[in-house]
Amino acid sequence: MARYIFVSGGVMSGIGKGIATASIGRILKSKGYKVTAIKIDPYINVDAGTMNPVEHGEVFVTDDGTECDQDVGNYERFLDENIYDKNYMTTGRVYQNVINRERNLEYNGRCVEVVPDIPNEVITRIKAAGKKVEADFVLIEIGGTVGEYQNMLFLEAARMMKLSHPKDVLFILVSYFPVPKMIGEMKTKPTQYAVRTLNSAGIQPEIILARSVLPLDEPRKRKISMFCNIAKEDIISAPDVKSVYEVPINFENENMGNRILKKFGIKPRESDLKEWRKLVKLIKNSPKIVNIGVVGKYFETGSFTLMDSYISVIEAIKHAAFSENKKAKISWISSGEFEKNPASLKELKKYDGIIVPGGFGNRGIEGKIKAIQYCRENKIPFLGLCLGLQLSVIEFARNKAGIKDATSREFNSHSKNLVIDVMQDQKKLLEDKHYGGTMRLGAYDCQVQPGTISWKAYKAWVPNETGPYIISERHRHRYEVNNDYRKLLEEKGLVIAGTNPKKNLVEIIEVKNHPFFVATQFHPEFKSRPLKPHPLFKEFIKTAINCQKKH
Ligand code: GLN
Repeated sequence: MARYIFVSGGVMSGIGKGIATASIGRILKSKGYKVTAIKIDPYINVDAGTMNPVEHGEVFVTDDGTECDQDVGNYERFLDENIYDKNYMTTGRVYQNVINRERNLEYNGRCVEVVPDIPNEVITRIKAAGKKVEADFVLIEIGGTVGEYQNMLFLEAARMMKLSHPKDVLFILVSYFPVPKMIGEMKTKPTQYAVRTLNSAGIQPEIILARSVLPLDEPRKRKISMFCNIAKEDIISAPDVKSVYEVPINFENENMGNRILKKFGIKPRESDLKEWRKLVKLIKNSPKIVNIGVVGKYFETGSFTLMDSYISVIEAIKHAAFSENKKAKISWISSGEFEKNPASLKELKKYDGIIVPGGFGNRGIEGKIKAIQYCRENKIPFLGLCLGLQLSVIEFARNKAGIKDATSREFNSHSKNLVIDVMQDQKKLLEDKHYGGTMRLGAYDCQVQPGTISWKAYKAWVPNETGPYIISERHRHRYEVNNDYRKLLEEKGLVIAGTNPKKNLVEIIEVKNHPFFVATQFHPEFKSRPLKPHPLFKEFIKTAINCQKKH
């Protein structure tokens, strides 16, 4: 039987609950346990796919094609385990399933009620996710903050689970301790209120993680212990860190893993975080920088600009740089600037490599195409991801194949030369306005062609292959390279380095006589892990470093 650890948040959101959950998972895994993690998002949306990145940050995609919260990406990166559709839950999904079952007469004619039927559905899903991978520990992160109306039914599910399996369920509260500038002292009252609110839902936190700019000191530990009814040693300090990868090490320095085991009545166990410690040491010491520019469309909310929608790209760049003993300095380049002022394109020369990541819609497109042209012509290492591939093909068609009005149906459906067109099976879905969860999603095969840069890079995954071989990568798109133009583009020097063997879709393109110009229809960033950098990112960073040496 699995054991369940619920992680909820106090005081405010954005304090690193996801990283805390992922780090606890890593620690338990390092003690030899099979661990999985579940994310609960309390909103009505059935998944994250239909949400604006300003609202929600990155949409992460699993192998089995779920569009979910970016925390699932953190779990995969920290645990080095695949997370599945079953591990993601929203209020919308839970209700949808209950309503579908009611329609199928699965409740045998009885009245279906919010309580207990909704929490019961939540519990069924939690157990199923643990069972799927035969987990020893299932971590369940409840999104939002304690006291919100939205996540009450999930807390209720947690309470009910504790009631039926008192020895197998643990509650952790990740709470925030502000240090207001004008007071200069860390305040505990907001957390006291958070605990009281949790208590009123019938839950007593058994471990409190104290997130703050500073470590928690003795007097405050005493206060929290006293007012929140918790032993002092169960209050764990979690001050800000420079790199999120330090968090498991910091937690383990506080003996977090064995404290958790003790709560479950399990004997202490050694943890093996050797490789992870090495990584953290490297992150802290690596002095040399590789400069990567990400040309994107950035999202402004009031006075703030969000980069969160590219978190997996950021992490994949970092992983690759670490593996080359470098630190990546990532700069955000707004493509709109190139549209207003094309002279600013030469700024791109300052970078060792440029990435054009995924995206949707018209804004900033022409600027990105200009940046891609600049990278191609000036031999700046370039990696295009999803939309980045589509724009690379458009750029190539316009400037190398003389198709001046080349574009994608996504931007201008009236153009005569749609070198990027909607996929056949997507047409009807769009006409019927079936937008949610209907893109080409999740893992698909790609056959990689010998002699290409990609073939060389992916050999890291299949070291013994000598001919073409198959890899699998995750997708999230509706449009694709129009095969009618393939021959012409190839004649003009575009390299089709990877294709989907079943549907003959273009998956990877390259250009010749360039140190590194590779673009993928899929999102390699979703499969990068801190100790296992993604081969394409690694090769890209390696080339960027070599080019840096040259100039
Ligand atoms: N908007 C493009 C499409 O739907 C690219 C999507 C992406 O970059 N994820 O095909």
